[in-house]
Amino acid sequence: MRTTEDKPEGTMTPELEALLQSAHEAARNSYSPYSQFKVGAALRLAGGAMVTGTNVENVSYGLTICAERAALVRAVAEFGPEIRIEAVAIANLNEAASPPCGACRQVLAEFIAPDAPVVFPASDGVRVMAFSDVLPLAFDMKLTGNRD
Ligand code: ZN
Repeated sequence: MRTTEDKPEGTMTPELEALLQSAHEAARNSYSPYSQFKVGAALRLAGGAMVTGTNVENVSYGLTICAERAALVRAVAEFGPEIRIEAVAIANLNEAASPPCGACRQVLAEFIAPDAPVVFPASDGVRVMAFSDVLPLAFDMKLTGNRD
């Protein structure tokens, strides 16, 4: 098991700081009347565009969509199916750890480079990790033998 001492750690850059700030601003639009957990996500796309999203809860809790997936859906709607994600930042207004959930990791895997940095609040502060360390073995049809 990994400890915080041997965690893979990326480097915070001014660009990632700006992306994180945008995620923080997006969190202000969170619709989270049930959990009060206000999350924002910001994606930097190849070509330089930035797209943000926030979590949108529902009274039928399972229908809630996370900020990361909200941003991703918005990015595809705005820029088309060929988008590539170069960096992701996640923030919340609750000063709580907020790594992307498993569902969001798998959905991001469809569009993100393995070495893309993912910035998120961890229990010990802001963490920067390569996507391939955040989700080391994404489901991929290539692995099932059903598609080449
Ligand atoms: Zn999620």
